[in-house]
Amino acid sequence: MRIILAVIILTGAMINVVAQSKKSNPKKDAVIKSVLNHEKELIKLSDEVWSYAETALKEVKSSKVLADYAESQGFRVKRGVANMPTAFIAEYGNGKPIIGIMGEFDALPGISQKAQPTKEALVTGAGGHGCGHNLFGAGSLGAALAIKELIEQGKLKGTVRFYGTPAEEAVGGKIYMARDGLFSDVDVCLDWHPDVEISANMQSSQAMVDFVVEFKGKAAHAAADPWNGRSALDGLTLFLDGVNTLREHVRPSVRMHYVIQSGGDVPNVVPEYAKLWMWVRDSKREGVDEVFARVKDIAKGAGLMAGVEPKVTVQSGDYELLVNQKGAETLQKNIETLGPIVYSEEEIAFAKKIQEVSGGKQVGLDGKIHALKPTKEHPEGGSTDVGDVSWLVPEITALVTTAPANAPWHSWAVVACGGMSIGHKGMVFAAKSLAMTMVDLYENEQLRKDIQAEFENRKGSQVYKAYIPDGPPPVPSRN
Ligand SMILES: [Zn+2]
Repeated sequence: MRIILAVIILTGAMINVVAQSKKSNPKKDAVIKSVLNHEKELIKLSDEVWSYAETALKEVKSSKVLADYAESQGFRVKRGVANMPTAFIAEYGNGKPIIGIMGEFDALPGISQKAQPTKEALVTGAGGHGCGHNLFGAGSLGAALAIKELIEQGKLKGTVRFYGTPAEEAVGGKIYMARDGLFSDVDVCLDWHPDVEISANMQSSQAMVDFVVEFKGKAAHAAADPWNGRSALDGLTLFLDGVNTLREHVRPSVRMHYVIQSGGDVPNVVPEYAKLWMWVRDSKREGVDEVFARVKDIAKGAGLMAGVEPKVTVQSGDYELLVNQKGAETLQKNIETLGPIVYSEEEIAFAKKIQEVSGGKQVGLDGKIHALKPTKEHPEGGSTDVGDVSWLVPEITALVTTAPANAPWHSWAVVACGGMSIGHKGMVFAAKSLAMTMVDLYENEQLRKDIQAEFENRKGSQVYKAYIPDGPPPVPSRN
């Protein structure tokens, strides 16, 4: 009995060795090792960016800490690209193929939060990383660094390029970088996004246009001589009546939302100026254009009715994301090789507490690997400037758990998880899976060709034209 058992064990071990040598790729093992070697530094970078919580185009410290780290690791760093002081490119290697990877680092205003499972601001009124972009930037840089080391050792040929892309939550930094041709020579670009589950992304995002509507009227005493006044606020409220009536006559995939930024100062002065900031979204750019044309007509009509001057100014906008199945399948295989993220009891308790506090079902964290999902006809709500890049170069996106489901996104809950080990684990996973996929892309020319062919096919004859206006990006003046 004992002898037979020994034979079985030996045979099992041998099979295991054979299976491993067939499956394992030394370059993929090397990038995983590299990410682990730099894990502490990547976590430190992510935590620093998390604590700065700088919003769109004000990410001065966040951008610097990432660019400095890239430089210290031997990347050639170009700062302030595309006329944005916080945009940068870190590159290593030479020639083709050029594989790009993007990293964001901007926060959202007003949602500062401590890394704890109950709502409490770290700095009252300050920003917070409610979309996990602190993890996004550091994780992508970790993947780029792992590839840089293989190029340095002569094990991969070509160029790795990290794009430090500011202002995703407003403005759309990537769109300005795209306008300056910074993606024009890239073969394939990768990125990832913090999420509540893990898989390669096969879903598009909404196209959208970001614009302001202003009305100019005539001030007068609201009681003494109102007949001499023309209320800009009347123009604005009539405009909103029109927009909200329009809702019945647009496709269900359309989303319209706005905030009023100015509507007069005091009741006894007829408001001479009113301003509203609005976004129109739909599943595709054509849908957005169609609704936006009607919204512009509504602004004209409202101006006529109130006797005030309307003005519509486009500030920005995103294309819908073009997915790439071949690329996603390649990434998915690597994600599956890595296997699920395992959480400690403390982490699960942390997540459940967040779910309890936010009134969601207490299901904890989802660290398992989800299968590639078929692309839905209409994406779920949300837009990204990665969409614009995806019309210029084939794009592969990983989604990795960094927060629990059943808690609100863009909120304190995501900020809390992004500043502790739940977020860190997701970031490290993302860095590994993206670096492994980059190894595939460098090594397999046919794969790059197939990805490119699918990209051309999906793009078809539609010509990319960004929504952003001419002129420099709206960089806030320093004060
Ligand atoms: Zn985001």
